Amino acid sequence: MRCTIVLEFDNGDGSVVKRVEVMRLHRATENQMPGDVGLSLAEGMSLVNCVQQEFVVEQIERFCASHRACVVCGVQRRLHDSHCSELKTALGKVFYCRERWKACNCGADGSRYVSPLKKYLTEASTGELRWLHAELGATMPYRQARRVMDLLLPPRAATIM
Ligand SMILES: [Zn+2]
Repeated sequence: MRCTIVLEFDNGDGSVVKRVEVMRLHRATENQMPGDVGLSLAEGMSLVNCVQQEFVVEQIERFCASHRACVVCGVQRRLHDSHCSELKTALGKVFYCRERWKACNCGADGSRYVSPLKKYLTEASTGELRWLHAELGATMPYRQARRVMDLLLPPRAATIM
């Protein structure tokens, strides 16, 4: 048996704008152990981390695309540079492109460059992950909290502790 997991992004109208294959699972029909059904915890963790990765990238790209035009004259700002950045989430660490644009020639930006994510992604981790760490840290000793995080979260999510 083979299972392909595909994400579809649209604009809310049902028309598919982008399809991304996130994972392909395979199970041999022979040599199966009794009761060995479903996804393993490791596969589940990997799957949610892959979905998180694609979801975050799509969300950030759409955010940037909607803020690229100058609010005064409507001209699209030109790309100055970009770099890869990481975001720690409760569903694992994800990577995204952080762009910097040249300010609009009309002078509306009031600076030389515009960083569209400056006020949108202000921290290297999500609030949910920070809350989870605080909650676990407040209810159990550090080593125990760390062990719970390592067991239940995707491998790269627990690294903030
Ligand atoms: Zn402008």
